[in-house]
Amino acid sequence: MRVLGIETSCDETGVAIYDTEQGLLAHALHSQVAAHAGYGGVVPELASRDHIRRLLPLCEQVLSEAGLARRDLDAIAYTAGPGLIGALMVGSTFAHGLARALDIPVLGVHHMEAHLLAPMLEPEGPDFPFVALLVSGGHTQLVRVDDIGRYELLGESVDDAAGEAFDKAARMLGLEYPGGPRIAALAQEGTPDRFRFPRPMTNRPGLDFSFSGLKTYTRNTLRDATEAGEADHQLHADVALAFQTAVVETLAIKCRRALEQTGIRTLIVAGGVGANRALRDRLSAMVEPLECRVFYPRPEFCTDNGAMIAFAGHERLRAGQQDGPEMLAWPRWSMTELPGLDAAG
Ligand code: ATP
Ligand code: MG
Ligand code: FE
Repeated sequence: MRVLGIETSCDETGVAIYDTEQGLLAHALHSQVAAHAGYGGVVPELASRDHIRRLLPLCEQVLSEAGLARRDLDAIAYTAGPGLIGALMVGSTFAHGLARALDIPVLGVHHMEAHLLAPMLEPEGPDFPFVALLVSGGHTQLVRVDDIGRYELLGESVDDAAGEAFDKAARMLGLEYPGGPRIAALAQEGTPDRFRFPRPMTNRPGLDFSFSGLKTYTRNTLRDATEAGEADHQLHADVALAFQTAVVETLAIKCRRALEQTGIRTLIVAGGVGANRALRDRLSAMVEPLECRVFYPRPEFCTDNGAMIAFAGHERLRAGQQDGPEMLAWPRWSMTELPGLDAAG
């Protein structure tokens, strides 16, 4: 089965083709980062308009890279939520229109389920069950995953998501969006141990997170150092390192707790923050003595992309699931509501 995957939930237009036998055949991405730069965040209306412009050319591009024609597609998967409503509607309308024209099944996919399954796109992917750390721009969750559609939420952020915290701290440091990779780069020049930021909510039991306090801590540290006449590039690098270390340590402590609590021996990390090198190194060191393993998507499939949508959709479409005639677009949608693979299509 050959599935065209379409991602338009936020500010990335992603398209890909996944094949049962051959795996990923082609993928293409257009990031709107430049279009939103200068507005201080994603402008929903601009995002929708740009998805409309990009979708058809990107589809033609992946078809041509895969050496396929439209009629070679067996099904279409698109992101049905969660995300920006207008952006979702572009992908949903496009997917349903194309599926209708080709007379093939179409399925709305949950964006976070797609992030969570992305490590399975890799040749040596994880097996169920696993604990998933979802760390993206909008979510920080620990999820017990027994199979596709069998998700138990173990913990989540009570305020900002990890990626959001990176983006906000980056802005205080005068860095542009997306802040995660820019903080990571600046942190490489940082002096270890000049500042020690708190590890929020690690002193009490439980698997929830809180990152908004780190924002305040970052602001105050910058203010105090500036008042002491220390506002220079080195200060910014040292704050970037202290901030990143605090987020990474906090995530590692909770991941370890989740592995111990569930007795599961496999951890996967997905979502944009999963691309962070310091986080990957720390988690690898953390799981080793526990005799557990950790898996990641390749860095380009940590952030939003069409490949993860094609793959997640493929798994469900192959099990016979598909949309009815109604186009789906759900800005808010809980992953634990999803059916298992054995649910009727
Ligand atoms: P969601 O999936 O929750 O709807 P999203 O799709 O906006 O949110 P992603 O595309 O998965 O989120 O990830 C984007 C986030 O990842 C941004 O906050 C960005 O700063 C962060 N990020 C990307 N690369 C890195 C990195 N190397 N280190 C830390 N954070 C990173
Ligand atoms: Mg994005
Ligand atoms: Fe995402």
